[in-house]
Amino acid sequence: MEKTLVIIKPDAVKKNLIGEIISRFEKNGLRVAAVKKIKMTKEEAKGFYIVHKDRPFYESLTDFMSEGPIVVMVLEGENAITKVRKIMGATNPAQAEEGTIRKDFAENIERNAVHGSDSQQSAAYEIPYFFSALEIL
Ligand code: UDP
Repeated sequence: MEKTLVIIKPDAVKKNLIGEIISRFEKNGLRVAAVKKIKMTKEEAKGFYIVHKDRPFYESLTDFMSEGPIVVMVLEGENAITKVRKIMGATNPAQAEEGTIRKDFAENIERNAVHGSDSQQSAAYEIPYFFSALEIL
């Protein structure tokens, strides 16, 4: 069993899509091990996306991720990291496959509805960024 960190981003929370998005993961056999609604400060968003600090979109991305509430969760299942990435679809919704969350709900390459850890190494940084061991069941 693998764990991954998923975020429902501010654009999707604003559109009342929390239930719809969680349901897509559950229907694909993933289990919610932890979940909460929070709002990140700009500094917290910068820390979360520190791997992207030298990318041209870092400032804009961290403004966006701190503009409103998000839902953070730990999902668990077999091959959870790969499975979540497939259900989410490509970063750019213009390139996302039919039936993926980003194809259906993303506005553009930045405001793309969801985040999912891209590797076990990322998940190992991202899960404890939001949850203590006692909160993951
Ligand atoms: N992003 C952006 N412009 C880009 C690439 C990425 O605004 O050209 C944003 C987008 O919100 C994306 C996040 O930065 O989800 C992290 O980028 P990454 O390449 O890690 O994509 P992901 O793993 O989220 O698909």
